[in-house]
Amino acid sequence: MQGIWETIRSTLGDDTLGHPLFFITAVMATVVTAGLAFSIADVALGRMTFTSAAKYLAITLPGYLAVFALIRWVPIGSGEVPERAPSVTTFLLGLAGCLVAGDFLSYWWHRLEHGSAAVFRNVHYVHHSVESPLTVWSGFFVHPIESGVVFSMFYVVPFVLDVHPMIFATYAAINTFVTMVTHCGYKLWGYPTWLFADTARHEPHHEMKNPPNFCVLLTLSDRLFGTYLPADAATSSSSNLATTS
Ligand SMILES: [Zn+2]
Ligand SMILES: [Zn+2]
Repeated sequence: MQGIWETIRSTLGDDTLGHPLFFITAVMATVVTAGLAFSIADVALGRMTFTSAAKYLAITLPGYLAVFALIRWVPIGSGEVPERAPSVTTFLLGLAGCLVAGDFLSYWWHRLEHGSAAVFRNVHYVHHSVESPLTVWSGFFVHPIESGVVFSMFYVVPFVLDVHPMIFATYAAINTFVTMVTHCGYKLWGYPTWLFADTARHEPHHEMKNPPNFCVLLTLSDRLFGTYLPADAATSSSSNLATTS
């Protein structure tokens, strides 16, 4: 991976790669790219109006440019980066570690949001007020406190451990893509639903009073802590609720 790393360094520069908030450029690039792709599909299929899609992109794009400007022109940190790329094994283990840590922490925050009536009433209700059908932008419709806490849950471990920028940026892109897919409303061909959270399990979560499926990244924590419900069962439970309530 050394060749890839040297190409990235010569293209982006060490000041940018060594910025402690560099990973946010991967987040924003994924938001803009996936947001654009899913919005085009939504407008073409009549799931979203062109005006709505344009509004979401108009809100997102300046944010992306502001983050890039911050990282490019506001130097924070040493600007030093590792000379060596991680080995493939280190890269994969680091990526897996980031995903498991992000899933675990965001899962327990989400459990707390549903376990505490006060937290749900004052914070999480905003996200659950999004009506079906969910779209790729629904995941961003959250209370500001939730936005800050979830962002911290996702990124505190790689940030504190100062993981290699190649690992951190890849994790940030995957994390962002999965949380968008979890709300996108589509069943994607080839998407590993056994591993990652998806719309078919998350959309019923939005509709149920005491929902299962708290994961928005992996399926691991739901499986480990007994809150995993397969998509078919989750969908029929939410439709039963809709017809009986
Ligand atoms: Zn929830
Ligand atoms: Zn959601």
